[in-house]
Parts: sequence; structure tokens; C-alpha cells
Amino acid sequence: MNVVFVASEAVPFSKTGGLADVAGALPRAIARRGHATSVFIPAHRTVWNSHQPIRDTGLRLSIPVGARTIEARIHESRLPGSEAAVYLVDQPAYFDRPGLYGAGGVDYDDNCERFVFFNRAVLAAVESLKLRPDVIHCNDWQTGLIPVYLKTQPHRFDALGQAGTLFTIHNLAYLGLFRHWEMALTGLEWRLFNWHELEYHGMLSFMKAGLVFTDMIGTVSPTYAREIQTQKLGSGLDDLLRLRAADLRGIVNGIDPETWSPTREPMIALPYDIETVGPGKAACKAWLQHRVGLAERPDVPLLAQIGRLDPQKGWDLLAAVAERLLERDVQLLVLGEGHPKNHELLQDLVRRHPDRVWAYLGFSEDLAHQIEAGADIFLMPSLFEPCGLNQLYSLAHGTAPVVRATGGLADTVVDADVANLACGTATGFVFQDPTPGALWSALERALSLYGDRPAWMRLVRAGMSGDWSWDRGARQYELVYQEIQHKATARASS
Ligand code: ADP
Repeated sequence: MNVVFVASEAVPFSKTGGLADVAGALPRAIARRGHATSVFIPAHRTVWNSHQPIRDTGLRLSIPVGARTIEARIHESRLPGSEAAVYLVDQPAYFDRPGLYGAGGVDYDDNCERFVFFNRAVLAAVESLKLRPDVIHCNDWQTGLIPVYLKTQPHRFDALGQAGTLFTIHNLAYLGLFRHWEMALTGLEWRLFNWHELEYHGMLSFMKAGLVFTDMIGTVSPTYAREIQTQKLGSGLDDLLRLRAADLRGIVNGIDPETWSPTREPMIALPYDIETVGPGKAACKAWLQHRVGLAERPDVPLLAQIGRLDPQKGWDLLAAVAERLLERDVQLLVLGEGHPKNHELLQDLVRRHPDRVWAYLGFSEDLAHQIEAGADIFLMPSLFEPCGLNQLYSLAHGTAPVVRATGGLADTVVDADVANLACGTATGFVFQDPTPGALWSALERALSLYGDRPAWMRLVRAGMSGDWSWDRGARQYELVYQEIQHKATARASS
């Protein structure tokens, strides 16, 4: 099969969150299964500092954006250790910027224009490069117009006639909403701006566009696939998703063992595996405590959180239990950036408990690995979580996750209740209601089990023994790609 994967970020070229991890790892796993695979991403400023070999293909394309024509330059690289080609869609005026989608917490005002350009440039490049994909796998709103162009302007894409589309939702909270007059930038007919197709409460939604026009819809966990069909988590698109339920698949993300395994991470103090996790984690913990200036105490539970400081991640719940938690003998580490309110919350906690709380309010890939390796307990009380990668990284590092039972968290963490502890399947601490009380009782259970070393190590090893490799996910995606191929073939012959 020939698969073209399109995303707005991909490790190791660019990253703001989990999408980049997926776009860097899933295509590699697909390529490993013998499929011709290429990845298209914008040439954001960070790609030039990614230390990857990048070659100019010489391909120059004239891309219509509204009334203007903008040049796209196509550069080429590879996903490290893989046959999968990476094509970088370059236009400095759009992508040579400090942030991927915005700066200083504010989205760029021309995001509609930037991503209209990206979507159209990808299709033009796929044609010019004669890639002839069977499946174009789009991801999140930044790629939402690709299925629309293919379905509504097939005459423009003769060479792509056989291509079917998969549109994967990584986070339905981001709808890619633009002012209605920005329709003019898309080159699409105004008749598509209606509430069955591209219109969302008077605005243009790239997410809705992708969901309406794609052949199949994916999302990143079975539980989230169900949740987005409800009014509560459907972002106003639950009706549409219920209508398309037969075409919707939930596949849990994997983790890339090359990047996220404590046996191979060069930045951690001591590599370890399931056999050596005891001394390995102790060394990584001591190193981490020293690095951030907290007391080097092996016995104190070290709790951590890494992620966007967004309300989605349950910061209000954490804020509500923080003081009570810090009455216990614990240490707390946070790595994150985002919402100013949460920056203040963390700065305040550090001011009041400088000997027990440490926070880095920025982005640091190395520190993310070092925290996963050195911490004992990972906090992820998300209000919703499409898949979540950090709980998977935590499981792989023997760091017990405390999670709310939502989306991928519900699908990947096995609660340490009496039955699961007794049969050795427990891997973390799961709570149901998004309330401080429910989070607190999960934390209490975690702290109490931490005091029972043999039971704790059983839980840690159960977590580390799980298979979160992308091979499993890639096999499931392969089946969806086959379904898409059948649909596209049926369409062509009808
Ligand atoms: P989301 O995609 O919603 O942000 P995920 O848990 O799926 O959340 O993935 C987040 C990814 O981004 C993980 O790889 C995590 O380590 C990384 N990450 C988030 N914030 C930071 C940060 N401040 N520094 C380093 N890595 C971060």
C-alpha cells in the first residue's frame, strides 16, 4: 500500500504536543510493515535546527491562496532510522516563525491562510512527486481541507483519483475555526458553507470540513471514540459523529521505543529495564532531585506532571488538592507551559514550598525524559484526554500514573483496586469523577501503596511489561487503510 501521512508537526522536526510524537512514530511503523510511506509537514523554523539531513528537491509549486499565488518549495528528509520520506512544505512568510500556531499564547491571525496554503501545497506536491497514494492520512484541523479538495474538485487531482482519506482526530477541542469571509481564501465554492458541511455556528471549521468529507474517521482511543459522540465531549459535532459512527475507529497511540525507553535514553542518569528498575529509578531519582535542587531523599514519593498548562489537563483539580498533598512528606515537579493562570498557580506553589515543589515553565525535551525516569508517581487528572502519551511514557518508565477515567487514560491504566492488586494486573490509580475529592482519594491510595515496597514494585513491573509499541497500532491502522481502499475502489467503479 502507498500511504501519505499529513500533519502539522512531527518529531524530530517540530513539536508542541502528542501529535508530533504520533506523526514521527506511526509512519515509521507503517513503513516497517512494508508500505511505501511519506510524511508531509510544514517547514516550521524548528525543522532547520533539527539536525536532520534536509535536501531541496528543487520542486517549486504555485499555490493559489485567495486571489494570490504563493510559491511552495518542497524539501525532503527522512524519519530517522526509517525508509519513510518526509516532505517539508516551505514558505518562509508562513512558517519561519517563532511558534507553530501562534506566539505568546495568541494564535496567528493568518492561520486560515497558512493552512489553506499547506493543504493545497500538499496535494499539489503529492501529484508532482507522482506518489499515487492509496490513502492520504490527515490529522486534526490543520489538514481538514484535504478531503474537501479531493471530493469536491476531483477534476483538479487526476493523479489522485484512487486515493481514499482517513481523518484522525487527536483533539476535538480544537476545531480550526475561522471567520466566514476567510472561505474566500480556500478556493472552495460558497455553497459548501452550510451547516451540513463547512459551517460551524457562523464560522468556518476545518475540523468539521475534514470530518464531513473524509472516507473514514479515526481517533486515538476507543473510549474517546465513544465520548466524542456525546454532547459533553462532542464539541458541537456529536450529531455528525453519531451519524458517521459506522466509519469511526478508535486506535490507542503507541510509543516509540527508540525515543521513549529507559533502556536507551541518553539523557537519563542510568539506563534500566524491568529487571533493574529498582536501582535504575533510584539513580535517576537522585540525579533529578539534585538537578532541581530538592533534597536527595530516596524514600520520599516524587510526584510529577509534564504537559500543556491547559484546563483540559485538570489543573483546577490539582490546585484544589495541592495544599493538602503538600502537608504530606512528598516532592512535586512540574514541567509545562501554557495558560497564564496555571503559570501563576505553579509559581505561587513554588514560592510557598521552595524545598518541595519545583517547576520549569517552558518546553524541554530532555527534562521530560529525565522526569519520567526519575519520578515515582505521574499526575494526569485530565478532564478529557483523547489518548494521552505521558501516562504511557510513565508506564514504560515504572512511574505509576494517577489518572482520571477518561479517553485513552481509561483504556491504558489498570486501577490498583483490591482485585487488580491481588491478581497483579494493576498499573496505576484511576478515579472517575472530576472532583478534588475523587482525585484526593486516588492520591491517598497511591501514597499508601508507595509505602508497601513489594506491592509497589509489583505494580511498577506490571506497568513496564505492557506492550505499547507502535507495531500493535500500525496493524490496526493497516486494517483501516484496507477498508478505505475498498471504499475508494467501490467509488471508482460505481
Ligand atoms: P497533548 O498532545 O494533549 O499535549 P499528550 O500527553 O498526548 O498531550 O502528549 C504531550 C507530549 O508533549 C508528550 O510527549 C510530552 O512529554 C510533551 N510535552 C508537553 N509539554 C512539554 C514540555 N513543557 N516540555 C517537554 N515536553 C512536553
